[in-house]
Amino acid sequence: MHAITQSGWVEVVTGCMFSGKTEELLRRLRRAEIAGQDVAAFTPAIDDRYGTATIGSHAGRRIEATVVDTEDPLPGMRDQLNGEDVVAVDEANFFGPALLDACETLAAEGRRVVVSGTDQTFRGEPFHPLPALIATAEYVEKLQAICTQCGEPATRNQRLVDGDPAHVDDPTVVVGADEAYEARCRSCHTVRRD
Ligand SMILES: [Zn+2]
Repeated sequence: MHAITQSGWVEVVTGCMFSGKTEELLRRLRRAEIAGQDVAAFTPAIDDRYGTATIGSHAGRRIEATVVDTEDPLPGMRDQLNGEDVVAVDEANFFGPALLDACETLAAEGRRVVVSGTDQTFRGEPFHPLPALIATAEYVEKLQAICTQCGEPATRNQRLVDGDPAHVDDPTVVVGADEAYEARCRSCHTVRRD
């Protein structure tokens, strides 16, 4: 990636669950830190807990992150920012539409903004605000997982409730529910509609 000159930019790392998005986000942040750039990371307040959190991948890498409001993230980011060159946002799909403005503002100030989040709901529909972020970003990388059913590249989030596919009318985001997710390909992905 080129050096920051006059302007910043936005990078999006997206794809389904288990595709390695967070690992890729952390890889980019590590490379920036090795180059001596200061990094600030943010994560959504999905259950009213604020403070600091940890962005961690299954590969064991982790980094400290500040928890910010999902509907109005910029003030919380501003409180934390102190001239960092690189700003990271994990789990972008849990934010409301204001994340777009926050990323645009930070990039306009000359920062490199790296955003990670899944681009599809469990129904296989666009998961906002990722579509808008992807459209306005300078760089987009879409990662694939491996389908748990057939072994082909997976792009979809399969939600399972007690082992069965979730119903199409279930809410998009359920916090604290007893459910599981699998990565699946288009043909193995199932949504219950009865
Ligand atoms: Zn499959």
